[in-house]
Amino acid sequence: MAGTILEIPMTVVNDPQSPMYIPEENREIARERAVERKSRIKEYLEVRDSIPTGTNRRERTEKSKERILEVLGGTGDDWNDHRWHISNVIKDTATLSQILDLNDKEVAEIEKAARFGRWAVSPYYASLIDPSDRSCPIYMQSIPTSQEYIEKGTEDHYAIKYNSPAPLITRLYPDRLIINVTNICAMFCRHCLRKKDISSKDMIYSKDDVRAALDYIAASPEIRDVLLTGGDALALPDDHLDWILGKLDDIQHVEIKRLGSRMLATLPQRVTPELCSMLARHKPVYLNTQFNSPMEITPEAEAAVDRLIGAGVIVGNQSVLLRGINNDVNVMKKLVHELVRIRVRPYYIFNCKKLEGIRHFRVPVADGLNIIEILRGYTSGLAVPTFIITAPEGRGKTPMAPTYLLNYNRNGKLLFRTWAGDICEYEDELLDE
Ligand code: SF4
Repeated sequence: MAGTILEIPMTVVNDPQSPMYIPEENREIARERAVERKSRIKEYLEVRDSIPTGTNRRERTEKSKERILEVLGGTGDDWNDHRWHISNVIKDTATLSQILDLNDKEVAEIEKAARFGRWAVSPYYASLIDPSDRSCPIYMQSIPTSQEYIEKGTEDHYAIKYNSPAPLITRLYPDRLIINVTNICAMFCRHCLRKKDISSKDMIYSKDDVRAALDYIAASPEIRDVLLTGGDALALPDDHLDWILGKLDDIQHVEIKRLGSRMLATLPQRVTPELCSMLARHKPVYLNTQFNSPMEITPEAEAAVDRLIGAGVIVGNQSVLLRGINNDVNVMKKLVHELVRIRVRPYYIFNCKKLEGIRHFRVPVADGLNIIEILRGYTSGLAVPTFIITAPEGRGKTPMAPTYLLNYNRNGKLLFRTWAGDICEYEDELLDE
């Protein structure tokens, strides 16, 4: 029987002439090794299916959705319309109480926290909250608590104040920069680094301001990569985003455009077919989003990613390492697996900063290193993000990684440990004298 495109007859692997032939005694050794390999993820396999995700919680989410639609007076069609969610964003405790059965103490805490910074949550994101669990990762990311006004932290506005050579621009690196196009988001995340900078008013910056930013880019031939963010780049109306992307297309040295948007997690309905057709006209476009919990990876989010990929947009994820939300190695492993399943590349895990109002989300850097240690080698390299500390004073993202290199000297030998902890020697080429 002809078996390949070259019409070569098929063979069987047990044929000793086959390059894939393995004698039975070797096969037995390989089987023992496979058992040993599997034992290294035994703990994860035991809990894997009990970790809540946006897919396995579907039934409960549907019930919350029905309750929210009843409270807000919406329909099933409204639910699929991002404009309905934006107009009905939940930002008062009276409405939230009807959805989450808040007690008096919780209401008082939320109202007091609101004096220190805005809160708001899209109906969609609110439907992902487990209403009976105050340690629910979705609740913790969206609803303020007393910790926000009790704790003290530092301030680090250096990145914006001293790194903005033109209106709306933040420039920290040699060949790329940011245009901050808006301060609007579908919700105000409780762990947001920019929480102190979110004004009490929603803003989309004027075309004149954006033109000044574009002029700076046009006059800087070394800039090949421009990130539109804010706020959330997808908070812009399609026509305004289309205009900015078109202007960037006209600048020859801009090779790629990136969008910073958390809407895949907070309001995936925003990714409409119309938005995707528009983005398809501005290739290459990358979109960096922020999923922090497997509970955010819902069928709606997956469908939104499908539409973006269909339009040729490349999607990556930047998580923030957050206490009680994703600092558990098994939860983080489930998150990265869910991401690659829906075709989103896990790109970065950021360490949370020591800022006022978000400190309670921080964990030691050692926890982040431990997560990378448990991912690297234990799962596909494609699912292993880079763990990042953002250096103070706008000095940039700095990768942190477990140490594998144990000794490196000029005698041509490297000593290192593998992901599994084996110590190995490696013959290097000698350095030229
Ligand atoms: S979507 Fe991003 S910018 Fe907006 S509040 Fe959340 S973390 Fe901050």
